[in-house]
Amino acid sequence: MYYSLKNSLVTATFSRALLASLAPGGGLWMPHSIPRYSPEECASLGAMSFADCAAKLAVKFTDDKFSEDDLSAICRDAYDFPVPIKTADGYELDSATPEISGNEFFLELFHGPTLAFKDFAARFMGRAAGHIMKSKGDKRTILVATSGDTGGAIGDAFLNQDGIQVFILFPKDGVSSVQKQQLTTIGGGRANVHAMAVDGSFDDCQALVKSAFSDQAFSKKHNLMSANSINVGRVIPQSFYYFWTSLQIKAALGDKPLVYSIPSGNLGNLTGGLIARQMGAPIDRFVIGNNANDPFVEYLISGEYKPRPSVPTLSNAMDIGRPNNFPRIDKLFKGSHPAAQQVCWGASFTDIETERHMRRIHADTGYIMCPHTAVGNLAMKAFSEGVDLDFVKVTVATAHPAKFADSVERILHTKLDVPKPLKSAQLLQPVMTIIPPSLDAVKEFVEIKI
Ligand SMILES: *Cc1c(COP(=O)(O)O)cnc(C)c1O
Repeated sequence: MYYSLKNSLVTATFSRALLASLAPGGGLWMPHSIPRYSPEECASLGAMSFADCAAKLAVKFTDDKFSEDDLSAICRDAYDFPVPIKTADGYELDSATPEISGNEFFLELFHGPTLAFKDFAARFMGRAAGHIMKSKGDKRTILVATSGDTGGAIGDAFLNQDGIQVFILFPKDGVSSVQKQQLTTIGGGRANVHAMAVDGSFDDCQALVKSAFSDQAFSKKHNLMSANSINVGRVIPQSFYYFWTSLQIKAALGDKPLVYSIPSGNLGNLTGGLIARQMGAPIDRFVIGNNANDPFVEYLISGEYKPRPSVPTLSNAMDIGRPNNFPRIDKLFKGSHPAAQQVCWGASFTDIETERHMRRIHADTGYIMCPHTAVGNLAMKAFSEGVDLDFVKVTVATAHPAKFADSVERILHTKLDVPKPLKSAQLLQPVMTIIPPSLDAVKEFVEIKI
């Protein structure tokens, strides 16, 4: 069962929490209890394929609408792409020959169809929602605010799904040109996925989605559902890859302490990591990298949490001034700042530092990072400088660099190969509607399309 962070007496099953997105009163759903696996159970889960491990973990977070076979089918279908753990010079972590692997890795979470880690959660959520809806035959309208990557992943995951219309709200000038091309060509722009370019910031997009939900009449009429990481259907699957990869690393490298560095914005990815750690995944600490939008890093340092309007940066998917998963993280640490500090360490970086670091790693190793991954890797470097201990460093690579080709090519003075999914998007004519940042404009557009 899940309960509302605004009122613990308000509860729901996974299926209801997923479709309702937020609890009545606007609270975030949180699992009542997080299953705990013994080291032996962890080892046997780690010996499975990623998809099978994910399905087993999902059993404990879902409800009786999902049999083990359903979850197995959902995860095998969703996770048909690799989850490589690589060194900067291109070796994959290999339990047969750990000596050539070293102890510094990138966990590349960008091999799904839209080339960002959002695919892991979006593909699970899309299939889970489809499974629940099939038995009910109902209709839903998804409103999703995106700083660039979520919209593509959700659009792809729900493309041509019966009973679903998806509306993507993105900041007109706040996403990369590759992201914009991707967001505005899903299904050729003629299917059930509609792109709205909002003349404003990502925070404006997020606020519009929230006010659409608060508009009871509108929300009811269209059966609104959120696919942002406020939805538990997004956050839970993000624990699966931390759980599974930490066990691959243990199996290859033995008992060295293990630290993941996560470039963060809305803190959904970190929430997944913290849930995996509570399940018993052998992860010692998390390092958090922020760009100039760093209220969470500030909180870790000072204990004071002060959300504020976002400013645009090079790592646009993290331009978030009010991270919407902060209440979940605060809850996982029972509201204790010292408890959060024991597990999480953070640092923030300017665009100039990020660019310099991208050039340095490229020159030293040939590895090309997207600007977000570079922020995470910088944070890992800063953390390591204060630690006199041999530990395994894993930087979470959140997006393929080609999604940010305009900035990456300018910074590195090199031409990037275009991965296949982006090539096909380039051939399509973009379809989008520009709207002012007003709820009336959103409502009008939705009414026209439905
Ligand atoms: C979404 C995103 C992030 C931030 O993840 P959160 O879960 O919002 O903290 C970082 N990097 C990339 C490339 C992203 O798309």
